[in-house]
Amino acid sequence: MQYQGNLIKMSSKLDGDNVSYSLRLDEDEVDMTQMLGKSLTLTYQNKINCIKCGKETKKSFGQGFCYPCFTTAPEASECVLRPDRCKAHLGISRDMAWSEDHCLKPHIVYLAVSGGLKVGITRLSQVPTRWIDQGAERAIRLCQVPNRHIAGVVEKFLMKLFGDKTNWKKMVTNEDLPGIDLPAEKEKALDSLPPELRQYALFDDQEVFDFSYPVNQWPVNPSQHNFDKEMVIQGKLQGIRGQYLFFEGEKVLNVRRFSGYKIQLSVD
Ligand SMILES: [Zn+2]
Repeated sequence: MQYQGNLIKMSSKLDGDNVSYSLRLDEDEVDMTQMLGKSLTLTYQNKINCIKCGKETKKSFGQGFCYPCFTTAPEASECVLRPDRCKAHLGISRDMAWSEDHCLKPHIVYLAVSGGLKVGITRLSQVPTRWIDQGAERAIRLCQVPNRHIAGVVEKFLMKLFGDKTNWKKMVTNEDLPGIDLPAEKEKALDSLPPELRQYALFDDQEVFDFSYPVNQWPVNPSQHNFDKEMVIQGKLQGIRGQYLFFEGEKVLNVRRFSGYKIQLSVD
């Protein structure tokens, strides 16, 4: 079988705790979970199309944009990476219609275990998708707030106690703090908040989400494949977690990092 198209982040489904993945390539929806154990060849076609406007671009900016879109598209605005700086609640944004749907909607602040323990935020409607994209093993909700800006303020405050980055190496090698008590960490987090932020706390919500990823074998000392340096990645697919594909030979591919890259996928 052979597929061709521009890479875009994989979509996921949850059945109980079990995560499964599919990858859209042109008209095909490729079931990636079914590819486990099969020999795959991904070949970069030396062409990048912007994920926003579709135009060809020599270089990818901000994981898939051409330079003009990177500087104008709301999906690439500062508030995506720095939510505390979101100004949509003041009526300031690259595109207010987009911000109405993305920034001015209820958000969740959460703790997740994905390699290490981290604090993060996401739109309410992106739960649990966002956690799966990050490869979280477990997650608990802390607060529900009315918009992205307030979520960012809470997150920034909690970054004094918790990290906010996923350690990809620990995540893909399954080194996940097995003993950590998420409800206890939640209590610690909420106790630290000043009253004006504490008003958004979800005190009664003790639900801990668990995720189990399709993995036959975990990498031990992985390195990341880079299509800019090597056109081909090949080997048996050993597992998937977050947006990473694990290949035999300790190679992993962060699919999202190469959004917009045109590739061919062959399955033996
Ligand atoms: Zn573009």
